[in-house]
Order: sequence, then C-alpha cells, then structure tokens
Amino acid sequence: ESVQRKYEELAAIDKKHFMHPTSSFKQQQEKGPGFIFTEGKGIYLKDVRGKQVIDALSSLWNVNIGHGREELAEAAAEQMKKLAFSSTFATNSHEPGIRLAEKVAEMAPGDLTMTFFTSGGSDANDTAFKTARYYWRLKGKPAKKKIISRQKSYHGVSVGASSATGLPAFRDFPSLAPDFYYVDSSIEALKELIEREGAETIAAFISEPVQGSGGVNLPPKNYFKEIREICDQNDILFIADEVICGFGRTGKNFGIENFGTIPDMMVIAKGISSGYAPIGGMVISEPLRNELIELTEGVYMHGYTYSAHPMCCAVALKNLEIIEEENLIENVQNMGEELQKGFNWLAERHEEIGNIRGIGLLGAFEILRDQETNTRFSEPVSVKVVEEALNHGLLARSIVYEGQDTLAFAPPFCINKEEVESIISIIDHSLTEVK
Ligand code: PLP
Repeated sequence: ESVQRKYEELAAIDKKHFMHPTSSFKQQQEKGPGFIFTEGKGIYLKDVRGKQVIDALSSLWNVNIGHGREELAEAAAEQMKKLAFSSTFATNSHEPGIRLAEKVAEMAPGDLTMTFFTSGGSDANDTAFKTARYYWRLKGKPAKKKIISRQKSYHGVSVGASSATGLPAFRDFPSLAPDFYYVDSSIEALKELIEREGAETIAAFISEPVQGSGGVNLPPKNYFKEIREICDQNDILFIADEVICGFGRTGKNFGIENFGTIPDMMVIAKGISSGYAPIGGMVISEPLRNELIELTEGVYMHGYTYSAHPMCCAVALKNLEIIEEENLIENVQNMGEELQKGFNWLAERHEEIGNIRGIGLLGAFEILRDQETNTRFSEPVSVKVVEEALNHGLLARSIVYEGQDTLAFAPPFCINKEEVESIISIIDHSLTEVK
C-alpha cells in the first residue's frame, strides 16, 4: 500500500521532469517507469515496490563485480573526504590517477602503457579519434583522418562515437560527423575500402573485440590478426574498443587477448569501475606515446574537467583489486561455460533456439522460425520473452537491431552455478509461455 503510493509519487515526477536516455518519450508518458530501483546485492536488484530481479546483463554490461560492494563505497568516501577534486590539466597530478594509470598498464597486453582518462566510453572513443588524427597531422599527414568501423558496432552516442557506430538506428540524427566509414566483417571489404579511399586518407580502424550491443558477435577466425597486418601495411592505427570486453568480461583481462594480436590503442570504460563511478579512458602504446612526446610542440588541447576524477580513480582501483583478489576472471571462465551449457540445454527443449554464441560471461542466442534457412518470426519473440522473464524475476536483454531476434546475457562476475541455472530456468519457462 505505502510502497505503491511511493512508486506513484515518484512515477508522476519521473514523467514530468526526468528525460530518460535511450528511451521512447511516448512510452514513458503512457506507462511510466517500469522499475524504480532502490538497492542491489550481488546479481540482484530490488525496486521501490519490493520486487527483486536478477540483473542478467550486469545493468548495462558494466556492474561486473556485482551490486552492493561496500568496499567501493568506502573507497569513494575516503577519497572524497581527503581530496574530492583537483585538476590534472597540464602538469598537475594526484595519486589515484597515477596509481590507476599504472594498474591499467599492468593489466593491459603488450606495450599498452599510457592512459588518458574520461568519464565514459563515448568520450573515450572521441578522444581516440581526435588523438589518431592529431598524431597523423604531427607526422605530416593531415589528410589521414577517416575512421573505419564495422557494421553492427556500437561505440557510443557523442557526435564522434555515434558517427562511428555501425548500427544505423544510432546514426539517425541530422549532421553527424564526416569521415566515418563502415565495413562488414570480411577482410576483403576492408581491403576494398582502403583501395577505394586511399590509405593516405585513413587514420584508424576501430572494432570491439566481441561486439556487444550489436548482438554479441564474435569475429571471424583470424580476423584481428589479418586486421593488424592490413593496418600495419597501410599506416592505419588499430583501436580496440574494450568498453564491454575489458577487465575480464571475456575471461581474459582484455577481449583482444583472445584473438592473438595487440592494438595501438584501447578504449576502456564500464568494467574498470564496475559502474560504481563514471570513468573511461584511452590507452595508447609505448611507441605511440614516445612519438607523441617527441612530435608535439605546443599543448594537446584536449581534456575534460572530469578526466581522472580522483574519486572515480579510487573506486576503479578498488574494483580492479577486488577482481584480482577474488579471482573473478577465473569465475568468468567457469561460469561462462555453465552459461553456454545452459543455452545448449535450452536448445534441446526449444527448437527455435539457434546461433548460440559467447565467450566468458558474454553470451547470446537467437530465436528462429527455421534453423536451416535462418529465418526469423515476423514479430520478434525475444521481446516477449524478456517481458515474460520480468514477471519471473529476471531482467534480460533482447536485441532486435538489423532484423535480429537475439537474447543477450552478461551477468555479474560473482555469479555462481545455481544462479546461472536460475537464469536458464526462467528463460525456459518464459519461452514456453510465449509460444
Ligand atoms: N563502446 C562500447 C563497445 C559500448 O558498449 C559502449 C556502451 O555501451 C560505449 C562504447 C559507450 O560508452 P558510454 O555509454 O559509457 O559512453
């Protein structure tokens, strides 16, 4: 009774004043907020009306260590009491920023050793694009400014990042940035594009090691090794967007490590702080760092007020410490296997399930009318499954871009076998009910 009143009070204000990200304005007015979450613990979220749900996507593929870890709240409080903010523009610095940059270098593969911090993934991608272009200009090649990305990629929503995003729905705005090009996942397509546009006009190629929002899509075999070669042959910087994959999601520190190659730059966010504080960044290789130092005469005029925010850095450091101390990446490998076993079990019970895929705790499958011809139902079924799953206490994600009908999962790293089984069992019931 009283919790319902509280919900209604908040819902009325929400409709009137709160403009939601990635949302349908009409639906918000018609339906009001679905959940108004108030607390979280482990893989669970609870809302103002007392309903508990499993957070099977770690919210936005980001709450990797799980909800409710007090150590992170304490790290934030401690840092804020000591030094809430100071700038790192020019030569000023602070310890949490220094320590976090060192930690990222320690975890990163190869010679990726220097980090520029941002508040999230979109601004980190913008930073990478600007830096790549800046670098080529310093090298006396100002015409090298085109950025190539992949179809079905997601890189964020700032003007630069949405211009690089290969999901057309996110580019349906007037006047996004020029000089962005998209290729499918064949090596031939990239070669043809380079041939057509000319390598002397291309600054960088960007890709997620495993595409997230585009449907949990793994790269073709040897894809990134070949990409690396082509980039080297053509003086094109290779940027790995590790915003979802980074810091353990795929069962390794970084997603690209699964594919035997090392990029020139990595873009990071989400998992670096498990969502407890907004922070992202661009990591560059040692040779790139050295060249930038050597070639830059004036000031690199790029920095956000909240670049390396001390509280965010302190929280991220504590998060990375917990991931290490609790061997959470090993758990990602083991529970990732359980998740895939669960998908296979579901596929035996539901003939519509196909295209099972995944790596670590990043998994998905598709719902198909006909497996052999890969045809979908006329209306996406995954949307209904997600609605039904909510009634059974599971917050799952359906992906319907580009005519897909996919269910995607990325639970917190702290998940155990019984909890994986709960997810599978709820999906099983939900699928049965919507058929
Ligand atoms: N890159 C990838 C691969 C992402 O998945 C996302 C967000 O989902 C972004 C970039 C954008 O990050 P943010 O939403 O923090 O700006």
